[in-house]
Amino acid sequence: MSTSILWFRNDLRLADNPALAAACEAERIVPVFVLDDEAAGAWRAGGASRWWLHGSLAALAHELEQRGATLVLRRGDARRVIPALAREAGADAVHAGRAHEPWLRAADRDIDAALKAGGIAFHRHRSALMFGPEEIATRSGTPYGVYGPFSRACFERFSPRPHIPAPEKLRGVSGIRGDALDGWHLLPRHPDWAGGLRGSWMPGEAGARERLGIFIGEALDGYDASRDEPGTSGTSMLSPHLHWGEIAIDAVWRAAADAAPGAGRTAFLKELIWREFCAHLLWHHPEMPDAPLRGEFARMPWREAPDDLRAWQRGMTGIPIVDAGMRQLWRTGWMHNRIRMVAASFLIKHLLLPWQAGEAWFHDTLVDADLASNSASWQWVAGCGADAAPYFRIFNPVLQGRKFDARGDYVRSFVPELARLPDRYIHAPWQAPDAVLKQAGISLGQDYPRPITDPGEGRDRALAAFRRIRGRAAE
Ligand code: FAD
Repeated sequence: MSTSILWFRNDLRLADNPALAAACEAERIVPVFVLDDEAAGAWRAGGASRWWLHGSLAALAHELEQRGATLVLRRGDARRVIPALAREAGADAVHAGRAHEPWLRAADRDIDAALKAGGIAFHRHRSALMFGPEEIATRSGTPYGVYGPFSRACFERFSPRPHIPAPEKLRGVSGIRGDALDGWHLLPRHPDWAGGLRGSWMPGEAGARERLGIFIGEALDGYDASRDEPGTSGTSMLSPHLHWGEIAIDAVWRAAADAAPGAGRTAFLKELIWREFCAHLLWHHPEMPDAPLRGEFARMPWREAPDDLRAWQRGMTGIPIVDAGMRQLWRTGWMHNRIRMVAASFLIKHLLLPWQAGEAWFHDTLVDADLASNSASWQWVAGCGADAAPYFRIFNPVLQGRKFDARGDYVRSFVPELARLPDRYIHAPWQAPDAVLKQAGISLGQDYPRPITDPGEGRDRALAAFRRIRGRAAE
């Protein structure tokens, strides 16, 4: 009787899953998920991602069970676990979605060799992305370093796969031992910091589909404008679902492409291509999570200021738009894209702290933490990545707040101690006259911090540091 292993990775779904469809051609199937913290090292799933993973695996296991197969959970080095499981199950083939993280690419090479030696095939399917990241190349065959032409190439070439329905029945293999999900302790216990995450998200394929439906129905039209307003529900919030592959990129693209044409639709499809671009960069620069792509930035005279880093992490910098974002992140595991840019810029430029420190904090606290998108975006903000914002273009957090959160709704919802300040001062409470502060019930330095750095001085210090590494004036 033919048997296939289906190794779930960043494709925790049953519909539109080409690896599952291929595995189902065998008579029996053994679905498995491997928690391999060792191989990922410092970039293993962080706290918020682990919380998400628990919910996602529980949902997937339930769906598989309903169809007749048990999800096998194994923990350890995938190089050992997968070939051993394949032998144990008497499998002819292992199917998986293609992976892009450097450690999984390396593991895949070894697993391929080990399986081949035992006469077992290892098939990887395009699943997480629109393209294999090496497929899109310039005319001369080199990788793209600029988003614009990369995006155009994707638009020209991408045609999403037709829908692959979830299988109705699966024939599993009995007697294969697995770990208990609870035994992996992916959920926080003491203290339980995940209340806000539970209230904000529904991990799993059903939650992903629901989120996509709401977005397409209510926000796609007008997304081009509302995507920059953090106080509204103007974006899809699909990022954690896409990261774990609870919904296929093909399904998201199809749903948007089938909607009425307009600026909102075009802007959204372009954002999906940013995700693709980040994966393309990581594929060609596996060092990207740790080292700047522009070498001169390795000489940046970063400050060592643990108190400032902590204030930023806790949303206590005294800059309301930054604090609102950092608190949104802590409470819900997600932060609006515009505010990610502002908060990251404040850390790197105004505080002159290394982008890697911010990247690591995001990796631990984001439910959508994604090695490619996170590292490419941090490098983009820092000015040291591909197609990056120039270093000397420094976001003014007060003006950003006034422009994108004009009425202060976003700040008020995450920094409630400022709620009674008039709109005019909500983004710069230190500029408010004493009488206004008093009436709003705020004593600066007591109820809410004074800015940990003066925005103007922080900007000048950042520019001076940049001039030093460039050896010339930046402006
Ligand atoms: P939407 O606006 O609805 O966009 C739809 C999808 O397109 C997103 O779900 C995402 O998959 C993709 N996308 C949108 N913008 C970007 C972008 N700039 N780069 C890459 N993909 C994008 N995104 C992550 O998925 N994981 C991360 O770890 C991550 N870290 C970031 C760190 C920083 C410093 C910054 C500035 C951005 C980061 N982003 C990251 C990109 C972006 O902020 C999020 O993808 C977006 O906010 C997710 O919200 P959404 O699903 O509502 O996005």
